[in-house]
Formats: sequence, structure tokens, C-alpha cells
Amino acid sequence: MEDKMYEGKAKILYNTNDVNVSLMHFKDDITAGDGVKHDTMTNKGKLNCTISKKIFEYLDTCRGISTHYISSPQANEQLVKKLHILPIEVIVRNIAAGSICKRYGVRKGHTFKTPLIELFYKDDELHDPLVRDDVILEMEWCDSTQLSEIKNQALNIHNKMTEYWNHYELTLVDAKYEFGIDHNGNIMLADEVTPDSCRLWDKDGASLDKDVFRQGTDMDKVSTVYNYIHDLIQADNID
Ligand code: 5GP
Repeated sequence: MEDKMYEGKAKILYNTNDVNVSLMHFKDDITAGDGVKHDTMTNKGKLNCTISKKIFEYLDTCRGISTHYISSPQANEQLVKKLHILPIEVIVRNIAAGSICKRYGVRKGHTFKTPLIELFYKDDELHDPLVRDDVILEMEWCDSTQLSEIKNQALNIHNKMTEYWNHYELTLVDAKYEFGIDHNGNIMLADEVTPDSCRLWDKDGASLDKDVFRQGTDMDKVSTVYNYIHDLIQADNID
């Protein structure tokens, strides 16, 4: 039996018999506003696990991108490489929405000339504050080579994901990426890529992501959106 290493709001990480492998369990919980808003959604764990698996398999075929994903033994579980997770969230934005609109008064829907990178310090108690590069280096949350590497990888991944969602006639508005380092010092994409971690708009500007939960109360609507994204990407493989 695996022992619990870490429990977050949407996932639990377990140790396995292999020191280089962890088991990631996707929960049915859905939260927003630092966990202030909380609910559960039938099958959310399975939906997000399957969506993330499909996307990580796609990213693993892209040149220059590597991920922690190994396999998915159950619909709501993944075996992943054990990594030291950097305490930094890399947010990449194509279009203004969410916190950047509040922070700088940017109009929601404003398209950035080039994808914009923002870094946030992962700390629930501090509410994941926006952080400057020099603070990251001073606090030794990673070194300067690693910092350049995660920014470059996040941009590369984000460009691939923008193409990916375009294929389905969806606009990738923004996304959050997390990175970790394996025992050989390799940096790779970790965590998940799902409607929890990005914003997707259809051609009418309707949200197909966690904003439906953030802004509403109708859990049937939230469930419909996650099922829609799940079903949409199951059908084919994009090269
Ligand atoms: P914002 O900074 O506008 O709140 O979020 C930007 C993007 O990053 C959105 O797609 C949002 O879902 C994602 N994001 C920001 N913080 C988190 C987080 O703590 N967890 C997850 N899963 N996604 C996040």
C-alpha cells in the first residue's frame, strides 16, 4: 500500500515501492478563491486525470518538451516521475482575464502582443503572490539557469497548447504550468494540464473551464463543461 506524501485541494500524491515514482490521485473536489469556494463534482477526478493524460501524451511527442507523466493505471490515477517541485507557478497569458485585469486594470479580452509570462510563489498561506525574478533568486527557490529554463519551457509548452486548442476551435486564454527536477537534474512539466489550470473560450467567448465554477453556482453546468472538454479531445490524436 502506498503512503501519502502530500494532499492538495484537487489531488493526493502517494509514494510507491519505486523511489523514483509517485502515484497521483485526482480528487472529485473543485475549489476556487484559495479554497473559500468548495464543492465536489461527480467524476471530476476521472475527467481531469484523463484530460491531463491525453495532453501530457501529446506534449511528450513535441520536440524539447518532457513531462513527469508515466502511465495511468486507473481512470483517476497516474504514475508520475518523482520530482522536486519548484515552488513557482508559471502563468502564460495570450489574452487578459482573471487576476491581471484586477492588478493592472487591463480590459478582459485584451490580446497581448506576445504571450506574457508571470511568476507566482506557490504558498497557500500567502495566497500565491506575484513574485519578481530577483526575489526568486534571492530566496533560492531556484537558480538563474533553472529560472530561464522554466520560462523557456513554459513558453514552448504554451505555444504547443495554443495550437492544440486551436485545432478544436477553442482559444487558449491563459494557463498555469508547474515544473519539477528529477534525480538527474532534468527539469520537466509536472502537476496537470486541465480546465482547472487554464482558461479556454469558444468562438462566442463562452468559458469552458473552471471560470464556470468560479463565477456560478450551477454544478450541472460545470460538469457539462468538463465532460465536453473530455469528450472533445478523446476522439483523435494531434501531431
Ligand atoms: P489568474 O492569475 O488569472 O487567477 O490565473 C491565470 C491562470 O492560471 C488561469 O487559467 C488559472 O486557472 C490558472 N491558475 C492560477 N492559479 C492557479 C492555481 O493555484 N491552481 C490551478 N490549478 N490553476 C491556477
